[in-house]
Amino acid sequence: MTDKKILIIGGGIIGLGIGWQLAKSGASVTIYDSAKAGRAASWAAAGMLAPLAEAHSEEPELLKLGTQSLACYPQWVEALEADAKMSVGYRVEGTLIVGLEPDDTHQLRHLYTAQQDLGLDVEWLTGREARAVESALSPRVTAAIRCATDYQVDNRLMVKALRRAYQVCGGVMHENSTIERIVVENGVATGVQTQTSFQAADILILAAGCWSAQIKGLPETIVPPVRPVKGQMLALQMEAGITVKNVIRTVRARYPTSVYLVPRADGRLIVGATSEEMGFDTRLTSGGVFELLRGAWEAVPGTYELPLLETWAGLRPGSRDNAPILGETPVENLIYATGHYRNGILLTPITAYEIAKLVLTGETSEIVAPFQLDRFLK
Ligand SMILES: Cc1cc2nc3c(=O)[nH]c(=O)nc-3n(C[C@H](O)[C@H](O)[C@H](O)COP(=O)(O)OP(=O)(O)OC[C@H]3O[C@@H](n4cnc5c(N)ncnc54)[C@H](O)[C@@H]3O)c2cc1C
Repeated sequence: MTDKKILIIGGGIIGLGIGWQLAKSGASVTIYDSAKAGRAASWAAAGMLAPLAEAHSEEPELLKLGTQSLACYPQWVEALEADAKMSVGYRVEGTLIVGLEPDDTHQLRHLYTAQQDLGLDVEWLTGREARAVESALSPRVTAAIRCATDYQVDNRLMVKALRRAYQVCGGVMHENSTIERIVVENGVATGVQTQTSFQAADILILAAGCWSAQIKGLPETIVPPVRPVKGQMLALQMEAGITVKNVIRTVRARYPTSVYLVPRADGRLIVGATSEEMGFDTRLTSGGVFELLRGAWEAVPGTYELPLLETWAGLRPGSRDNAPILGETPVENLIYATGHYRNGILLTPITAYEIAKLVLTGETSEIVAPFQLDRFLK
């Protein structure tokens, strides 16, 4: 427990996750969100928990962080569902990465070799074996990698649950309340300026996703290098005869967009996503939606017949090296938890546990050391 007054800027999944952990420990926490909490990237995401499918040999520390966060999920979900009294749609059917023509198979092989070099528990499947696991797959599927431990959660349910659990545990929420400025005096963060007033705080946590660099008041050198990366998405309604159980990801060597299909327990099939450097533009484009529909149809031909329920776009908070920025800053009492890019849903438990630990004990675990802001300051 701490008697410090904690203020979190941003009520996305990261701010809510940290807020819940701190409120649960009995701390006094207030979250400010400029809109409705949990309705930005955290609502737009697909909810894949995919450290293996997303693994890159040049990012071993991120892989370790993702794997550890995934390992936290069962305990996290149990506690969250108990506090919020609702399900968050955590599913453990696993992931198939599929190729559809010889070029894709070469790319898949390359990925498989890299995953094996990293010691990951993945399995090579022929097209036939992949269809035996997921019968809705196209007869064109040439080969697949099975990542049996890459799971998924329904991120929209998870933010709803976190918002509820945070408030049940005594957390205070101010929505439609923009933080305009972080107030720093003599190298110490003392509070924030909202649209109407100054709010003092003992600890400030910046968790404003892709807007984290937009808030005024920070010394120029420590403005977090975070930018928006747009992703267009859509949802189909699965019907009798066309159901998917695993998360399916495509590798398309010759096309600009590989897609993923994420089946939800309520019958929605989430299809994503483009990756576009378009600033804060969240408009859908016909080309983006076309690529998603084409990619989904190629992997699972039955999607052609399915009702289109919804389209949307969100902004991933990408840092300069695409890894999160976690922990203390050169400004006293100011903590960063931002830049989670493509993996913020996966990384929510470890971020929340570690940032809460930092606030309560002044320490973090070794695993988050590589993700501090100081890597950009050197
Ligand atoms: C299309 C898409 C698909 C994705 N798929 C996955 C996936 O499958 N798996 C995965 O792990 N991750 C995925 N992600 C990434 C994940 O969604 C993000 O990394 C994560 O949601 C970031 O959470 P956040 O809380 O930092 O940001 P956000 O959810 O964007 O929340 C930031 C909050 O800060 C508030 N805010 C901004 N400025 C201010 C201010 N000045 N004052 C007060 N409040 C402010 C905003 O209103 C917002 O609510 C995806 C993202 C997108 C866009």
